[in-house]
Amino acid sequence: MTEEKKHGCRVTDIFVCGRCGYCCQGETTVSLDGDDQNRMIVELGMERDKVRDRYWRVTGNVVQMKTVNGHCIFYMEGTGCTVHKGRPWRCGQWPLHPSILSDKNNFETIRDSCPGINKELSYEKFCEVLRCLLDDKKNIIF
Ligand code: SF4
Ligand code: SF4
Repeated sequence: MTEEKKHGCRVTDIFVCGRCGYCCQGETTVSLDGDDQNRMIVELGMERDKVRDRYWRVTGNVVQMKTVNGHCIFYMEGTGCTVHKGRPWRCGQWPLHPSILSDKNNFETIRDSCPGINKELSYEKFCEVLRCLLDDKKNIIF
């Protein structure tokens, strides 16, 4: 986690990742775009076909990571993400998704699923800081 500070606002005012791994659980994962796929291949140092066979679930044009025992194949208990530098950008963005700004329900859903969100803040205050952080950046990637 980086202590990002822009225009006087800090990520840590709204979110500190506790590395609980809850966001890596479930029978589906985020999808990988082309850049994600290439970055993961480089990080793993394997050929595309091998990465695809071993780690990806491909459904039509949608590429996701396989799951094992109810979590992403790259998640390891006690270690966390084992492909950290090569993880999909959506993993790096979580939980500070811009959709929080447009819908309080999104905020509440994300807040309830991520223990790292500062639960002391009102929706309005949370959005104020998130908007400030996103001011000069489309996405915040950790
Ligand atoms: S659920 Fe939240 S606190 Fe837990 S690892 Fe994911 S981002 Fe970090
Ligand atoms: S790639 Fe890493 S951060 Fe993303 S879901 Fe899998 S284990 Fe979690």
